[in-house]
Amino acid sequence: MALTYLALGSNLGDGPVMLRMALSMISVHVGRVLAQSDMIQSEPWGFESQHPFTNAVCAVRTELAPMELLSVTQKIEYQMGRTHKHAPGEPYRDRIIDIDILTYDDLNIQTEELTIPHPHMKERDFVMTPLLQCQDRLAHQPRGRGRPRRTE
Ligand code: AMP
Repeated sequence: MALTYLALGSNLGDGPVMLRMALSMISVHVGRVLAQSDMIQSEPWGFESQHPFTNAVCAVRTELAPMELLSVTQKIEYQMGRTHKHAPGEPYRDRIIDIDILTYDDLNIQTEELTIPHPHMKERDFVMTPLLQCQDRLAHQPRGRGRPRRTE
């Protein structure tokens, strides 16, 4: 089992509803959601749009390997109505849902399809602020709600 942090963002439709739907699909198809941040609003990053984003981060315990995780999160994006993936060099666009893999345990992965830790996370306040809140919530959870028990 691995601990992964996922960043969610939406700037089309009702953002909080989209994020709640994504969280519920993540809990079914990825694994148990151990903690989540508050939802925040942010301005589009890297492109111009009149539609602000709703963002959040969640911590998930998963049995999926990193590439399986990417494939499942992309399926969730498509099931929720996303029609277009951003290709390198292309401008960003409005999107109904975006799910980025921020970290996966303490793995470093660099392939054509997947880079972990996410290459832009540190320069994005709308990722780092909810990530820190989510990590803090996970660290301060009562035992049994996701934190592994100490066996002594
Ligand atoms: P997106 O910004 O969601 O449209 O994703 C664009 C592309 O980024 C996808 O096709 C993924 O293959 C790639 N990608 C690379 N690293 C990551 C990551 N850590 N999380 C999500 N997508 C990633």
